[in-house]
Amino acid sequence: MSSAFFPGDLEQPAPNTSLKPITYALDDTNQPLVGGVNLVELARTHGTPLFVLDEATIRAAAKAYTQTLATAYPGASLPLYACKANMNMGLVKLMEQCGMGLDVVSGGELYTAIQAGFPMERVLFNGNNKTAQELELAIHHEIGRISADNFQDLEFIHKIAAAKGKKVDVLLRITPGIECHTHDYIKTGHVDSKFGFDLSQLPVAIERILEEFRETITLKGLHAHIGSQIFEVKPYEDLIEVMMNIYYNIREQYNGLVLEDIDVGGGLGITYTGQDDPPAVPEAVARIAEKLATYAKRLNYPLPRLLMEPGRSMIATAGMTLYSVGSMKDVPGVRKYVAVDGGMGDNIRPALYQAQYSALVANKVGAPVEETVSIVGKYCESGDILIKGLPVPRIENGDVLVVFGTGAYNYSMASNYNRFPRPAVVLVSGGKAHVLVQRETYDTIIQQDLIPAHLRRVNETSATPA
Ligand SMILES: *Cc1c(COP(=O)(O)O)cnc(C)c1O
Repeated sequence: MSSAFFPGDLEQPAPNTSLKPITYALDDTNQPLVGGVNLVELARTHGTPLFVLDEATIRAAAKAYTQTLATAYPGASLPLYACKANMNMGLVKLMEQCGMGLDVVSGGELYTAIQAGFPMERVLFNGNNKTAQELELAIHHEIGRISADNFQDLEFIHKIAAAKGKKVDVLLRITPGIECHTHDYIKTGHVDSKFGFDLSQLPVAIERILEEFRETITLKGLHAHIGSQIFEVKPYEDLIEVMMNIYYNIREQYNGLVLEDIDVGGGLGITYTGQDDPPAVPEAVARIAEKLATYAKRLNYPLPRLLMEPGRSMIATAGMTLYSVGSMKDVPGVRKYVAVDGGMGDNIRPALYQAQYSALVANKVGAPVEETVSIVGKYCESGDILIKGLPVPRIENGDVLVVFGTGAYNYSMASNYNRFPRPAVVLVSGGKAHVLVQRETYDTIIQQDLIPAHLRRVNETSATPA
């Protein structure tokens, strides 16, 4: 995987620790450029709201994973981009060029990868309630790995594989008793989670694979994912100990059964505001890789292939959202609301879990700060507040606001609430903007709607409103 890159040329700062994309710069008139493209002009030519992704930042993040793994881990490795963070066919092609694998969690994500021609042996299918149809699609296309989350998964895989005369490579997702929430983590014997096999169920799962499903399923390893927006490496090191101890016991208990893969999940954090201080990807990945190498050696266990599933840390920093400023409301002595032409439909995270973002008025960079405002959206919800307390220059209708760090869990969570069309997504690189996803139109909004025949004849109905 790493052969496409040159060892030692990780010259860029690790993208996940900076607020802005790595190509961010100002032109002679103080207007911001990303990927060599002027953001204010981009808003004018493509309209707002607009999602912008910086190709160089995505490539740097991918390189931080692939290259660090290749140099810091003596065994095989593969980082799998967690597509749920942000996915479209162009991004899939970019991930392929970057030497990444993919982690998909639905038939729709899998279908996107298939249609983009992504090499299926580098795809892993995750999820806690995979349908038989989804598994059928995955097995039909000879997906690289399926992470079985529960007994239903194993039973479905067995049935489908038996019918097709295939044998499927499977990981077992476990709940390892380590759980993280950004700044702290807990270790317990048991995690109350909807995902994965509880450790007490693991022997049963392994025994069923080795006996009942021996013709259809090969057990390749275990998989865990301990949380998201994680700022410490220690929980991953603990996870490796927990998992490798299980590997050791499995080898003891099941006739020398050696597992080839270990999947430690995703979750590494990024910088959304000046308060966030995540470890840089190369540092975190190197520590995880070194921990696995030394711990496996200590247990005298053959080095497993190391899989990771980064989502946010691969793409969040590459992304920005451009909005146009519209109406304003000053509540004297309380706050000033500034409304933009998007909001919770394109970025649900502040409303969903009080996520914080940084932003700039793109056409007034460097102008003195004059007030502190709250940036709100145009959706019919009082909770549709994007940023509370943003210091800005004198702000006016038509100004272009750029919100940073919106590459992950924004477009992928976008909705058509209030029947607003979803924005376009453009990829900027080398001074050009390439459309990855077209802006929806009002026709997109109604295209799935059907009017039943008996509702078409408006004047012939018997129901007459009073
Ligand atoms: C969400 C998720 C990821 C990606 O998490 P990030 O925090 O975006 O890195 C990886 N693996 C699994 C199983 C997930 O559910």
